Amino acid sequence: MSTQNPVFIPGPTNIPEELRRAVDVPTLDHRSSAFIEVFGPALAGVKRVLKTETGEALIFPSTGTGGWEAAVSNLLSPGDRVLAARHGMFSHRWIDLCRRHGLDMEIVEEKWGEGVPGERFERILSADRTHSIRAVLVCHNETATGVRSDVAAVRKALDAAGHPALLLVDGVSSIASMDFRMDEWGVDVAVTGSQKGFMLPAGLAILGVSRKAIEAMQSARLPRTFFDFRDMLKANATGGFPYTPPVNLIIGLNASIGMLEKEGLCNVFARHYRIAEGVRRAVDAWGLKLCAVEPRLYSQTVSAIRVPPGFDGSAVVAHAAEKYGVAFGTGLGEVAGKVFRIGHLGSMTDVMALSGIATAEMAMVDLGFPVRLGSGVAAAQEHYRTSVNTHGATAKRAA
Ligand SMILES: *Cc1c(COP(=O)(O)O)cnc(C)c1O
Repeated sequence: MSTQNPVFIPGPTNIPEELRRAVDVPTLDHRSSAFIEVFGPALAGVKRVLKTETGEALIFPSTGTGGWEAAVSNLLSPGDRVLAARHGMFSHRWIDLCRRHGLDMEIVEEKWGEGVPGERFERILSADRTHSIRAVLVCHNETATGVRSDVAAVRKALDAAGHPALLLVDGVSSIASMDFRMDEWGVDVAVTGSQKGFMLPAGLAILGVSRKAIEAMQSARLPRTFFDFRDMLKANATGGFPYTPPVNLIIGLNASIGMLEKEGLCNVFARHYRIAEGVRRAVDAWGLKLCAVEPRLYSQTVSAIRVPPGFDGSAVVAHAAEKYGVAFGTGLGEVAGKVFRIGHLGSMTDVMALSGIATAEMAMVDLGFPVRLGSGVAAAQEHYRTSVNTHGATAKRAA
C-alpha cells in the first residue's frame, strides 16, 4: 500500500501534515501548568465543535467504541431498558455492547440502508407509560451503509411522547465533518473518536455530556473505573487527568480544532457536502446505486455503493489496494460483498476525491464491471468545477 496516496476508508482518516507535526512533541509533564494550558482549550474547543454550551466535554484515552462503553456504563444500571434501531454494523455493535452490559434491549430492526425511524420510536416511547426505557441510542451516521439519521427527529419523538429517556448519540463518523448540534437537539451524550472528523491518529474517545446525563450518572449502577465520568470531571475541574493522558493527541486536538475553525465549521460541512455530492454524481454515472435508500438519508462522509448482482464489492477493495495502493472500505456484516465504501470524511479535498473516484473506476473496469472508464470522474469533475469551492476561497483569503 502506497503511503503517498490518500486513504478512502471512513476512518482512520487522512492526517494533514500540520497535525502530524503537531502531535510530534517531546514528553511533557501532565501535572505541569504546561499541560493545563493545552488541556483547557481542548475541552473548550470540543464544546464549540459539538455546539454545546451547557454540557461538558470529556476526553478519554480510547477510541469511539470506548466512548460508547463510557456512555453506557456511566449512565445506566443492570437491567435498564434501552431503545435502539439496528440498521448497520455500528448500530449493531452498540446494541451488542449494551447486551454485554446486561441491559434489556428494545430493538427496532430496520433494513440496512434505512435510517433511525423517528415515528416508530415515538410510538414505542408513547406506549412506555411507566418510563421503563432509560435511554435511546442513535447512530447519527451509520458508517457501514452511508446513512445519516435525523437526531432532531428522535428528540422530537421523545418530547412528543413526554418521555424522559436519555438520548445517546454515536457521532463517530459525523462530528466535525457534518452538522451536529448537541444542545439544540437535546443530546445527552455525543461520542466520537480522534481518528475520524478530527483528522488525528486513533487514541482519543471524545464525548459531550449534558447536565441531565451528569445527574443520571450519580445514581447509575453499572460498574466503571477507567471510564468513570466522576473521576474525570473531578480531575478536569483542576485542569488535570485521573491518570496519564495522551498529551500529544490532546495537543493535536487543539491544532485540529484550530484548522476546523480557521476554515469555519459551516465551510467544513459545505465542503463535505460538495465532495459527497461529486461522489454521488460519479455513482450515478456508473449506473450504480447507493446503499442509502433515499436522498434525505445520504451521508456526507461515506458513500456505500451497491455493486451489480454477480459482482463482489470486496474484490474492488482488494484489487484497488493491490494494484493501485489505495484503500477503500469493504462491506460489513449483512452488506459484506454487496457494497464497497468510499470514505470522504476528515481531511479531504475535491482533488483528493477525484483520485479516489478515478481509482475505484479503474478497479471496477479491471474487474469487468459494466462501467465506462472516465464516466464517474467526468460527472464529479463537472460538479466540482461548477460548485463553489470554499477550500480554494479560504486559501485565497489567507494568502
Ligand atoms: C468508526 C466508528 C465507530 C468505532 O470507533 P472506533 O474508534 O473504531 O472504536 C463507531 N461508530 C461509528 C459510526 C464509526 O464510524
